[in-house]
Amino acid sequence: MLDGLVAIVTGGASGIGAAIAAALHDEGAKIAVLDRDISGADERFAAFTADVSDRASVDAAVAAVAERFGRIDIVINNAGVGAQGDIAANDDDEWARVLSINVTGIARVTSAALPWLRKSPSAAVCNTASIASTTGLPQRALYSASKGAVSALTRAMAADHLREGIRVNAVNPGTADTPWVGRLLDSADDPAAERAALNARQPHGRLVSPDEVAGAVLYLVSPASGSTTGTFIEVDGGMAQLRLRPE
Ligand code: NAD
Repeated sequence: MLDGLVAIVTGGASGIGAAIAAALHDEGAKIAVLDRDISGADERFAAFTADVSDRASVDAAVAAVAERFGRIDIVINNAGVGAQGDIAANDDDEWARVLSINVTGIARVTSAALPWLRKSPSAAVCNTASIASTTGLPQRALYSASKGAVSALTRAMAADHLREGIRVNAVNPGTADTPWVGRLLDSADDPAAERAALNARQPHGRLVSPDEVAGAVLYLVSPASGSTTGTFIEVDGGMAQLRLRPE
């Protein structure tokens, strides 16, 4: 479905981003991973070191992608970081850091790619938001604020670039089985018991697979969704739509 197209995947060296990169690659896209740590990037992909919270770093990496491939058709804004606790748990510097990565990072990367997207006959952007975008997760105030902003930004971008032929959508994963969640589980006293409890808290009794998120992203950037923009797909076992609250 994506033969001849070039896709940037931020955070594509791990977890959900790596699964998205693989799914797009399997459909014929050439993949440029932008990550602050490219050590885990699949060797099938071109990998560029970039920190999405640093404009100069992003501009240099996107220019390098364009130089290498001569076009950019798809941007997957997936790089993101977590933050725990209520509104008082993080200081101003941490609020600024997380918002700069999770929200402004999307603006930086997509702005740098815009001149190329405008030239593409099938331009599409997909942002990785979260179930936190719509539910507001307990003890994740800053993270929820950042992902709610991703949802609003997705709609604003979709409206701004509609007439330029650039579609912008998002995915909202539930708790997914990635190295990020693995790190959280490993910090528990009994990681196996913690994993079992986490599985039991999911509506469908298990974590979301990164490949399931990638399938939704593939749809949202492929011609199959050519009339779809400014929306999101929830990949969360029904949690958000069924109003099931995570504990
Ligand atoms: P992960 O930690 O496995 O992978 C994240 C990748 O992003 C890493 O390769 C990391 O190096 C990269 N990254 C982080 N900060 C960066 C920066 N400033 N610049 C460039 N790259 C950076 O995490 P994951 O679980 O795969 O999460 C990916 C996305 O999915 C995030 O946006 C996250 O908020 C979202 N998400 C995750 C879950 C989950 O349960 N895992 C649920 C909902 C949404």
